Amino acid sequence: MVAQEGFQRQQGWDRIGTGRAAWLLLGLLACWLLVAPAQAQEELQLRPGTSIQSLAPHIAYAHDVDGRASVDAMRAQAAQGRFQPLPPAGASFGFQPGAYWFHAQLRNDNPHEPRWLLVQQYALSDRLDVYLRYPDGRVIHHAGGDHVPFDQRSVRYRHPNFQLDLPVGQSVDLFVRVESQSSMQVPLALYTPTSFTELSRDAQFAMGLYFGILLALFTYNLVLWLTLRDASYFWYLFHIGAFGLVLFTLYGLGFEYLWPRSSWLADRSVPLSICLAQIGMQQFARNFLGLRQRWPAGDRVGLGMIALFVLLAIASTQMAIRLSTQLAVVAVIFSVAWIAVEAIVAVRRGYKPARLFLLAWSMFLAGIAMVAMVAFGVLPKNFVTEYSVQIGSALEMLLLSVALGYRYASLRNQNERIVRESRDQLELKVAQRTGELRQALEQLETAHLRLREFSRLDGLTELYNRAHFREAFEHLMSQARNSRRPISLLMIDLDHFKRINDTYGHLVGDDCLRWTSNTMAETLRPHGALVARFGGEEFIAALPDMGLAEASLVAEELRQRLRERPCRSGDLDIAISASIGVHCVDTHAKDSLDSALQVADQALYTAKAEGRDCVRTL
Ligand code: GH3
Ligand code: MG
Ligand code: MG
Repeated sequence: MVAQEGFQRQQGWDRIGTGRAAWLLLGLLACWLLVAPAQAQEELQLRPGTSIQSLAPHIAYAHDVDGRASVDAMRAQAAQGRFQPLPPAGASFGFQPGAYWFHAQLRNDNPHEPRWLLVQQYALSDRLDVYLRYPDGRVIHHAGGDHVPFDQRSVRYRHPNFQLDLPVGQSVDLFVRVESQSSMQVPLALYTPTSFTELSRDAQFAMGLYFGILLALFTYNLVLWLTLRDASYFWYLFHIGAFGLVLFTLYGLGFEYLWPRSSWLADRSVPLSICLAQIGMQQFARNFLGLRQRWPAGDRVGLGMIALFVLLAIASTQMAIRLSTQLAVVAVIFSVAWIAVEAIVAVRRGYKPARLFLLAWSMFLAGIAMVAMVAFGVLPKNFVTEYSVQIGSALEMLLLSVALGYRYASLRNQNERIVRESRDQLELKVAQRTGELRQALEQLETAHLRLREFSRLDGLTELYNRAHFREAFEHLMSQARNSRRPISLLMIDLDHFKRINDTYGHLVGDDCLRWTSNTMAETLRPHGALVARFGGEEFIAALPDMGLAEASLVAEELRQRLRERPCRSGDLDIAISASIGVHCVDTHAKDSLDSALQVADQALYTAKAEGRDCVRTL
């Protein structure tokens, strides 16, 4: 009764799932099971009220190593007591050659249930032969397993099952022969038709829920991949698809729905789907974590693992299934551990999305670790530990999907930042260039102004030159006309300048010209005069708003200044005098500059003629 309760607690698809995952990861478990203590075999009585009955406590087994023994030979062995009770953890023996035989004696004491369903709670066995021997010597034979087409099953169900007629009150000998390339696991149970229906209903619901989550994640990310065309999404889809296929296969759904007639695929689907799932996951990890940039050495190892799984997948189509499955299981242990290492390195190198990736992967690893711990008795069997692979992998896929979104968002943010930064830099450069251009324009403007100024000035004396004087004088004339104010001209010529040149040389002569120019400018500009060098040692000044008398006074002031201030050139003091002709321009008569100049020149000539160093008017 205790055994029955224990069995009922682990009813459901999870029992199969956790059992398979443990098988996948812990080949050693079988050895442990083999050394566990044995129990005595007894007849199994199916009493009224019993609807589900595990055969484990009532079954004995024998290993036919070369697989050639007949049912009669084995019956003889059983009669001789050469069958032994199952280990307490059940009928799990790992990968085994030949065939395993199981024997139980059944007696149905329930008059309401003459028919029972024998179910093997493991989907992957190649071939099962069930022999029922009735007291009258009649032997009924059923065949099952995934080497027998699916539609030959008594009930269309993912686990091999056999309908048994158990007449009430009769002792029936049950022999089950199992031969398989996959792990030798034979958890057998008897169900009444009603209890089997109920059980399969709950199990299908739970499985539908799990694969529903996977399908939803697959579809959602498929849409994202089609929209975004990011390779990570593709490899995620690849992984989720292949991982789903692994569980689909392990639960017997692959044989039920995908290849119900192909024993070839039924055999190879386990190593093939494991290899595909690992190729997808390794490639996803490389892509998602950006290993090529972040950790080239690790990336090469990842590539090596992918190559290994590709080779193994190809080889598994040719080589012995047992060997390829064992190789795949061992390689998976290294592969999942390596992915964890890759994620840790990426996190340590500061890649933020890798943290979510690591969390997701930890969920998956925790799920597997829990199965292992339950198998070794470290953890108790409860809802979470029994469903840990399903919960762990569903959480892993969900978190990876979130991680993909996070990674995409961070890539987009990074792109936006780069665009923003380059735009800012561009704006800065444009501003810089504009500033430089403005500065250059200003410099050009200044240069232009200075050039214009230079073109108006006399090189030696820095007074205006004759050309500019003419221009500026016209302007003064029109102003004078408009304001009806007078304007006067002074024509100034230095006296006996040739002598200065002859006596002291031209350079001293130049100094004298500059000196007198300064004196002229200082004296005349306060009167608002326009002063220019007319040529040689001759100068001209226009005095706006001044009539002849006033202009003559200014001329006299200038003449005296020049006399008073001898030119200083080196150590020399050179006395200078000038003759000045004064003329008041008749603005009403529209006097031209040339005629006005001529009159001023005549006045100058008079000054020269009358002894120089004097001011004259006509
Ligand atoms: P006057 O009193 O009759 O005006 O006698 P002057 O010697 O000043 O007149 P003249 O016309 O005979 O001589 C003018 C001299 O001025 C001749 C020339 O060498 C000199 N001269 C003209 N331009 C310059 C100049 O730019 N630099 C120097 N050093 N001498 C100049
Ligand atoms: Mg002269
Ligand atoms: Mg002169």
